[in-house]
Amino acid sequence: MFQRHNAKPPELKTASDIAMMREAGKLVAHAHKICREMAKPGVKTIEIDRVVEEYYAKHNAIPLFKGYPGKVPFPAVTCMSVNAEVVHGIPGQRVLRDGDILKVDTACKLNGWCADSAATIAIGTVRPETLRLVKVGHEVLQMAIDLLPRKRWWSEVASLMQDHAERAGFSVVTNYVGHGIGRVMHENPQVPNYVSRDTRKHDFRLEPGLVLAIEPMVNMGTPDVTTLRDHWTVVTKDGLPSVHVEHTLALTASGVVIITAGEPEVVPMAVNAAESTSVVPATA
Ligand code: MG
Ligand code: MG
Repeated sequence: MFQRHNAKPPELKTASDIAMMREAGKLVAHAHKICREMAKPGVKTIEIDRVVEEYYAKHNAIPLFKGYPGKVPFPAVTCMSVNAEVVHGIPGQRVLRDGDILKVDTACKLNGWCADSAATIAIGTVRPETLRLVKVGHEVLQMAIDLLPRKRWWSEVASLMQDHAERAGFSVVTNYVGHGIGRVMHENPQVPNYVSRDTRKHDFRLEPGLVLAIEPMVNMGTPDVTTLRDHWTVVTKDGLPSVHVEHTLALTASGVVIITAGEPEVVPMAVNAAESTSVVPATA
């Protein structure tokens, strides 16, 4: 989210930098756990945001969205985008309803290092076609995780991500892209989820030390989006739903570290199965 242009080459991170980022990532992952647990029919999005804000404060983490500069500074620690809202939705008095999909995006800085992640949560019983969109969105992000260590150039990964979304009958948003991340939330390079002549011109090599926030946005209808008069909320032009998922990922010599993965939890199988009907994990 929050696209910015920066022509400098990506800064590569050391193993200790990546370990520091992982600590920030664990907080972001736990913030998402709070959101998944709270996001039920009847709950207002601002209520969830406030709990996440308290959580960051309790852990001395700096929330990176609140006050983010724009025509008006972003007012919350999470973006909460519902249904046709794609990204940058402002938490508020909107009440979640059965059948909604909620996109939560949040980032924090801990001890000088950033982590950024987004997840799509199904609220109650969601229409099958919308659930298929959610599933494809997760598959597109998972493809990026799987392909990062196997390809040499980002465009090779982005091309396969775009193909997967389009073969499913959906489209990839091109107005917003992922980004490098480190001591600052938005670093070079820009990380598009599609390929074009322009993205190929700014292609970058996949090498150990690269840390990227990869965040595909997949629309059920056309890729066209527009921004509401609140100066932030991005919505699909056709009013059809959109899915957004994001992980901060570090490429190392031995593979990919999912910086924003949740800590392994010991959960009885039955509980896991019950959760899986209403919760879409960040890494499906
Ligand atoms: Mg991001
Ligand atoms: Mg984000």
